[in-house]
Amino acid sequence: MRKAWGLPRPLRGLVMTSVMTIQLRRELVRVMVEWSRVSSSRYDSIIIGSGIAGLNLARKLSQAGQRVFIAAKEAVTEGSSKYAQGGVAVCSPLNPEDNCDSHIEDTLRASKGLANADTVRAIVTSAWPRLEELIKFGVNFDKDFNIEGSHSYSRVMHVADATGRAILKPLLDKVSRNHLVSIAQGTECISLLKNGSRVVGARFRNITGDDYDLLADNIILASGGLGGLYEESTNPSILTGDGIALAYDAGAQIENLEFVQFHPTVFFAGRSQASFKQRNFLITEAVRGAGALLRNINGELFAQKYHPDAELATRDIVSRAIIAEMKATGADCVFLDMRDIPRETLLTKFPNVYQTCRNYGYRLERDLLPVRPAAHYTIGGIKTDINGRTSVDGLWALGECASNGLHGANRLASNSLLECIVVSDFVATDVLSLGADSGCHSESHRHPERSEGSPCSVSHCEPQAKQSPCDDLSLIRTLLDKHVSLERSAEGLNYARTEIAKLAESNYRTTALLLIDSALARKESRGTHYRSDYPETSSDFETSTIITKPITQHV
Ligand SMILES: Cc1cc2nc3c(=O)[nH]c(=O)nc-3n(C[C@H](O)[C@H](O)[C@H](O)COP(=O)(O)OP(=O)(O)OC[C@H]3O[C@@H](n4cnc5c(N)ncnc54)[C@H](O)[C@@H]3O)c2cc1C
Repeated sequence: MRKAWGLPRPLRGLVMTSVMTIQLRRELVRVMVEWSRVSSSRYDSIIIGSGIAGLNLARKLSQAGQRVFIAAKEAVTEGSSKYAQGGVAVCSPLNPEDNCDSHIEDTLRASKGLANADTVRAIVTSAWPRLEELIKFGVNFDKDFNIEGSHSYSRVMHVADATGRAILKPLLDKVSRNHLVSIAQGTECISLLKNGSRVVGARFRNITGDDYDLLADNIILASGGLGGLYEESTNPSILTGDGIALAYDAGAQIENLEFVQFHPTVFFAGRSQASFKQRNFLITEAVRGAGALLRNINGELFAQKYHPDAELATRDIVSRAIIAEMKATGADCVFLDMRDIPRETLLTKFPNVYQTCRNYGYRLERDLLPVRPAAHYTIGGIKTDINGRTSVDGLWALGECASNGLHGANRLASNSLLECIVVSDFVATDVLSLGADSGCHSESHRHPERSEGSPCSVSHCEPQAKQSPCDDLSLIRTLLDKHVSLERSAEGLNYARTEIAKLAESNYRTTALLLIDSALARKESRGTHYRSDYPETSSDFETSTIITKPITQHV
């Protein structure tokens, strides 16, 4: 059932399902408040996603006087941003031993030839003023800089080992107090709306299952990655790459989706895994920066065998080294050894990791911690320029759903929060430089398809049903875990593709197929993409993989 915003249905009679998180229930009162605000408002910009990228952008747009609507699929704080531990990579004048050229070089080296050098330079050199801005409005960074894998210097700014949360909280406080901003939680964007070739709005489904259309001059995707399409993932399960499917259906270019970064050290609780609430709990790379070592099931150190940088090599190298050791020893995990890190350091620098492991019965100063790799970060995504513009008019993308050329074939640790913080500034400047020119009024309370006399003739980007059974998602997760993981081959990829193509239309089916098609197209191994049937890097593939939806011809 589709509704106009002007006919809001109060959430009376809402049945709380067991699926709904406690947090979402707590936030429900706010959803109701926002609901009524939305019904009578006009918006300049719609932002899909309430992570650090979306909120920081909303802060900037609303500060400049724009009316902003933010949609969050579940609770406003649920997304990868909240879980970020390590921090933000930044070359800072407070850190005289570091310099921006070195940060640029490290980023380009990790990218294996696929990053855009201009983008890297623009983001890295713009970092410090943006970090100062965060500090000014209340992010209390620690005074030291951490070192993480493949960084030449200690340059990761952090708030103990819970940096994402420490940034998100003051951002959310600031944005939610601004009367120009409406935040709708439990509100899933299911498709984008177009007027000719321009994106002019979005269709949302709320937690009661009703659909609403909303128009604005600027539509911005900040919807996070696709890690939730894997079972073994550090990402919240809601992050199923929806924005990538939405943009693809709207005609945008999708770039380098085959590059999915796996985090090497995710806590593994063995057969009792399912009983742990935070079963895919990540152990930040910074502990390896502080001296933690990797041992196989026989207690042997092995990282040096695979790369001279040992535990601090790039994540793809460390992850594959772990998988190789697991195979060689017949074990389903390896161990992280933090026993040589002073207890005081563990407690002060990694209190969240220390306490969580302690809750699971591990004392890090005494015990080896079982770990193994899990899907972690979506490197590719919606192709954009440095200002977040996609290849479709009216549509921007930023944060983890976007691919602007910063990472190439591999993301350097802690460069993604940096990207969210800096690129939101670029996008804001770009959006604010444009006038209201969509040709569609942002009178969101009117149903666009029914607005008479409007110059706007809105069409839906993808007419098929956008929800499919949870079983489909489970099947996709099983298939991606098995065939589209750290090691891929044409045989496994084709098998997964055939099975997923049989499922009903949905945004996560679209994204999974785009991922597989990208992985099939790159017949080489580079960065995070390893093909067992093409184990070498090939100069034929020193370019991006780009997929665009074929245009349907009506004859
Ligand atoms: C455990 C963990 C640790 C990490 N540690 C670090 C680190 O130390 N340093 C670093 O740089 N990076 C780290 N990362 C990566 C980093 O956290 C993310 O890349 C970054 O936070 C992404 O921010 P975002 O705003 O793009 O998306 P997210 O924070 O993931 O937010 C996505 C938003 O989109 C919304 N959304 C999705 N689909 C829809 C839809 N269909 N309709 C409406 N809303 C939708 C979600 O509800 C959510 O609000 C880590 C990631 C994880 C998972």
